[in-house]
Amino acid sequence: MRNDGLPRQSGEREASALSITWELQEQDRETFARELDAFVPDKVIDIHAHLYQAHWWADEPPHVTAGPAEVGAKAYREHMEWILPGRDLEALYFAYPFPTESGEDTFAANSWVAAQVAGEPNGRAQFLVRPTDDPDWVREQAAALGFSGLKPFSFYAPGERTWDAEIPDYLPASLMEAANADGWTITLHLVRSRGIADASNQHWIRRYCEAYPNAQIILDHCARGFNPHHVLEGLPALSGLSNLWVDTSSVCNSLAVSAVLDIIGPERMLYGSDFYVSHMRGTNFGVGDTFLWLDEDNAPPAPVYAPDFRLPLVGIENLRAVKAAVQLARLTDSQIEDYFRGNAARLLAR
Ligand SMILES: [Zn+2]
Repeated sequence: MRNDGLPRQSGEREASALSITWELQEQDRETFARELDAFVPDKVIDIHAHLYQAHWWADEPPHVTAGPAEVGAKAYREHMEWILPGRDLEALYFAYPFPTESGEDTFAANSWVAAQVAGEPNGRAQFLVRPTDDPDWVREQAAALGFSGLKPFSFYAPGERTWDAEIPDYLPASLMEAANADGWTITLHLVRSRGIADASNQHWIRRYCEAYPNAQIILDHCARGFNPHHVLEGLPALSGLSNLWVDTSSVCNSLAVSAVLDIIGPERMLYGSDFYVSHMRGTNFGVGDTFLWLDEDNAPPAPVYAPDFRLPLVGIENLRAVKAAVQLARLTDSQIEDYFRGNAARLLAR
């Protein structure tokens, strides 16, 4: 369904899923103009940008089906105009992790990402790794492809319950050693029920940061702060680690961002989009001791007091959450510019 009069984006295919859309709506433009245009600086580094080809998935997620079949650097940039219109954008790219049994497939994905990044201004990328990858092979291949970081992901951990994996199950010390030797970044998406409030997660992050001081760990999604109470409870255990960074990608609650600002500090907080998650319509929020996502498939109908309500883009909701936290923390203009660009430039220049 498309009633906004805006053009279809290049490469866009018909959504096969029930109600999932992939489109820019007038409300996205209005919200950005009203609340975000004066907040977001001209130059941005997106520290969390996934590139992908739809055929990587045996069973494509509905948003991948609804959007372009290939999201290389060019398609990513075109679509980021929905979230950051007119901004001068650089990114740290990595392949969207996809479930596969074949090591060759991750290698093909990494090679394809490398080709995408080659033509990008200051383009940088992380190597999608599985815990079984030989660290010497990873160092060799990543260097040959021009990568400067690692992107592990929990569902490459052994066993069925990958959402309950402990960090070494998907990021073994041998890969930390490789990252440490080359001063690489590692973007880490925490799992386990309580995220950063989990004692095992806290233990391994501290241990890895201390044992491998050249490696720079980026905890994504506000240290998986979709439930901000987990961040308030758990992140203080990780204060004082100078090689620990946090990206705020796709988190839609302000309290998690406030907690990161307070506990980690504005100089190590980074903007990230989590493209394509940024282009889903919906939100996420803490409830009880966990968090939930609302999207176009599971959201309740528009309420009577707002009959025209349509779900916002996650990427816009994320920016609003960040803005509120930044405003209440009274960050200066230069601290805001550092969040959007300066901190990432410092991190990536290492
Ligand atoms: Zn991501």
